[in-house]
Amino acid sequence: MTKPLLSLSEVTRRYRIRKGLFGARRELTAVNKLSLNLAEGETLGLVGESGCGKSTAVKLMLGLEKPDEGEVRIAGRSIDSIDRRSLSRMVQPVFQDPYYSLNPTRNVSDAVLQPLKVHRVAGDLKAQVRRMLDLVGFPTRLAEAYPAQLSGGQRQRVAIARALVLKPKILICDEPTSALDVSVQAQVINLLLELRRELTLTMIFVSHNLAVVEHISDRVSVMYLGQLVEEAETDQLFRRPAHPYTQMLLSSTLAPTPGAGLPSFTRHAAADATVQAKGCAFAPRCEGAQAQCLAKAPELERQDGRFIRCFYPKTAETRSLDKAVS
Ligand code: ADP
Ligand code: MG
Repeated sequence: MTKPLLSLSEVTRRYRIRKGLFGARRELTAVNKLSLNLAEGETLGLVGESGCGKSTAVKLMLGLEKPDEGEVRIAGRSIDSIDRRSLSRMVQPVFQDPYYSLNPTRNVSDAVLQPLKVHRVAGDLKAQVRRMLDLVGFPTRLAEAYPAQLSGGQRQRVAIARALVLKPKILICDEPTSALDVSVQAQVINLLLELRRELTLTMIFVSHNLAVVEHISDRVSVMYLGQLVEEAETDQLFRRPAHPYTQMLLSSTLAPTPGAGLPSFTRHAAADATVQAKGCAFAPRCEGAQAQCLAKAPELERQDGRFIRCFYPKTAETRSLDKAVS
């Protein structure tokens, strides 16, 4: 890979939590030695069930959280050495619910204008705002409207305009369409695809909607309890998932087969991030777990052109063995 524009090296973030009102304090590892590399112009999808640490990883990339261990680098520089002002010109987020990221007392034009003012950008700022709103397909006649007067899709367009008005190279989308109606989701995804092409954006795309992730990503990283368990090119990951957790994740979306019913969730008990297992974190839920999996934690390894953390992955070799047996 060419020099990464964004990288996480063995990044760990822990939280102290209390279970229940009078429960003992416990430590929770939200992100566990996570390493990611993103080349310029690339889009990396980040998936995994709720609570696996995706949003914490996002906050670390935005400098909104500090890692307890490891390092986040942007354009070769440690994020700690980049001042907030410069950082916000390099990386910008788009979050799930634009209602919370937009100030309700500021109209659309002002919302997009504000970052330009804060950063003392020169030139005709009003024209830059207009151009940006055009670019995201926001109707000009609504430029003086307030967030509460807009639809969810329109609000998300404003949030995207606001994120891109300073021309950042990296856009980090954390569930950007999850709060929107299905028809509007597609419009926002298409908008992001257009903007990515026009502005050569580098993107992190977090979503629990796997179809969308498959559509938009070059590569996909799968997280489980804060750890990276598999990372591969999008096609490879979706066609030949090798980690048992990736397979479970893909099979838990409904197949379009009438009468097939719901997928089996018998072994799909929720994961607990406060438990530090001696063996593989996924072993308690894994159908293929062996004695070794409970005794020892697998390392992330490069295999078959992908990264995988499993002693018994479904590789091309074991797949053909399976076929021979059945
Ligand atoms: P995801 O975005 O994948 O759903 P998060 O990164 O939001 O996951 O959360 C990962 C884990 O860290 C969860 O167990 C969550 O409860 C916990 N967590 C996240 N933020 C905090 C916080 N500020 N304080 C305590 N625990 C947190
Ligand atoms: Mg999240």
